[in-house]
Amino acid sequence: MEDNNSPVIGIDLGTTYSCVAVFQNEKVEIIANDQGNRTTPSHVAFNDTERLIGETAKNQCALNPKNTIFDVKRLMGRNYIDDCVQRVIKILPYEIIDKENKPKIQVEYKKEKKVLTPEEVSSMILSKMKKIAENYLGRNINKAVITVPAYFNDSQRQTTKDAGTIAGLDVIRIINEPTAAAIAYGLNNDTKEQNVLIFDLGGGTFDVSILNISNDGIFEVKSTAGDTHLGGEDFDSILLDYFTREFSKKYKKDLSNNKRSLRRLRSACETAKRTLSSSTQATIEIDSLYEGIDFHTTITRAKFENLFGSLFKNTLVPVERALIDAKLDKSDIDEIVLVGGSTRIPKIQNLLQTFFNEKNLNKSINPDEAVAYGAAIQAAIVSGDKSDKIKDLLLLDVTPLSLGIETAGNIMTTLIKRNATIPTSKFENFTTYSDNQECVNIKIYEGERTKTKDNNYLGGFQLNNIPQAPKGIPKIKVTFDIDANGILNVSATEESSGKSEKITITNDSGRLNKEEVDRMIKEAEMYAAQDRELRNDIEAKCKLESYCLEIQNNIINNNSSNIDIFKSKLESTLKWIDETPSAKQKDYENKLKEIKKYYEHILGGNESNLHNNQFHPTIEVVDQ
Ligand code: AMP
Repeated sequence: MEDNNSPVIGIDLGTTYSCVAVFQNEKVEIIANDQGNRTTPSHVAFNDTERLIGETAKNQCALNPKNTIFDVKRLMGRNYIDDCVQRVIKILPYEIIDKENKPKIQVEYKKEKKVLTPEEVSSMILSKMKKIAENYLGRNINKAVITVPAYFNDSQRQTTKDAGTIAGLDVIRIINEPTAAAIAYGLNNDTKEQNVLIFDLGGGTFDVSILNISNDGIFEVKSTAGDTHLGGEDFDSILLDYFTREFSKKYKKDLSNNKRSLRRLRSACETAKRTLSSSTQATIEIDSLYEGIDFHTTITRAKFENLFGSLFKNTLVPVERALIDAKLDKSDIDEIVLVGGSTRIPKIQNLLQTFFNEKNLNKSINPDEAVAYGAAIQAAIVSGDKSDKIKDLLLLDVTPLSLGIETAGNIMTTLIKRNATIPTSKFENFTTYSDNQECVNIKIYEGERTKTKDNNYLGGFQLNNIPQAPKGIPKIKVTFDIDANGILNVSATEESSGKSEKITITNDSGRLNKEEVDRMIKEAEMYAAQDRELRNDIEAKCKLESYCLEIQNNIINNNSSNIDIFKSKLESTLKWIDETPSAKQKDYENKLKEIKKYYEHILGGNESNLHNNQFHPTIEVVDQ
């Protein structure tokens, strides 16, 4: 059942593990699953009788490798022929088939073949995370914020959103994993601008991101680097290989062809690896591992570090690359945040700390929970939580459509572009369209099309009593200001008189819903070429007109003998503009070249003498 007041949960949908969190009672709570674990394996399995998700799926992986799906995040939003997909097909034990160039997963469920899309599998993991939250909170949950890697493209983000929808979740926001981690550490609470390096080494992937957090709380991803095929599972594989060799040396038996023995040994390796993060020695004890032989052995942290020496050191290469791409020196990094379970390995922490000249690493939040933690905070912000902790945080959001005003020719002149991070503020100068124009009509629209009639009208106002002046002379400054809550304030000020008017447009007044936004974006793409041409024509016309008007004002006191010849040329050009409404960009540009030449040759005019040579779009007074 739909529960409109239900809390919004934050989900870190990870390659190997997922985590769910909620903000309530003034704090973030990481929600444990039915096994008491705070992260849940991103595994889904099918067998003859049932579908399994999480631990139960991971635990039976060795017995049912063809029908146990994991690492599905690597397939999300990709084409079958993508290099990345081709690479994982070779390693993953389940079957991936090509359906219209999309990778699909084929499994056997209840003795029948079943074909699944990656988003369907992800939706199963998401519904498990939803259920974990519902069991804990004792109510239905239908809204979530989900995180994705910063380098995910549109299609990968959209597929993640679709997975949420299939799971019965309204995905109210998709946020970048490094941004979520930075939010978790409260790194936008500081008033000073800072550069944050997020070092995220999880189970299957390694991502380094550098974020710049400005003093008004805007998170900008400056660079990302990493290795999409390096993580804790690779460490497990190396350990597995090491112990398989040890077993073979000790007992003269090769277990590497026995899937079940390998799976049991791999699982013991992962446990030993985790133990070595807190102890200097770990023990492996597996009864009857292979052909009835009990395998008991130990490994010290020193040996472990020796085994991984160069692999661990190599994690610094993407750090250096990310710094170069962000054009920053290591001394410019203010905070280093550890994310992902594998950053618990002390040697990795040492290497990183040494690289950054012994700078302290941020690790107070569990590294495998930091992303979900930040997602839960973001979820609370978006759902309007008013608690003390939350209310000081700024809403990180983007504008879904461009925002602008109507200018001469019913043209949309954009001030704030689509996808601009809010809060934001932009202004532009405009001028009048006709002589002695006393008022301008500021009409505000959202949309991507060139003609305002194709966009969505949001509201408007008039700025009256503009001092009398020839067209093109008054300077009207229009400012668009969107605050952290998405509320748009538009003001217009006439410079010489200081006269000013403004309007406030809130999120819900006449704004579009998602379908409309999607339709408008699609239409805009379709008509983009056509629109571009139209815009170029109109801009060229305005440029020519504004040039002529400016010169007209400039030559009022000119006594040159050729002034009349020039004036008549100027008038004929202005007349031509009025009488040739279907002229194209090229025609206007030619006319502009012509009149400029005239100005220089006949009057000896100099462009740089023009005090106001900047082009301002003009605003007509049109009845609403
Ligand atoms: P994540 O996907 O971020 O949850 O990371 C999971 C990876 O972190 C798995 O490969 C785990 O084996 C690894 N991991 C978790 N805890 C530790 C630990 N204490 N020491 C080393 N690796 C760990």
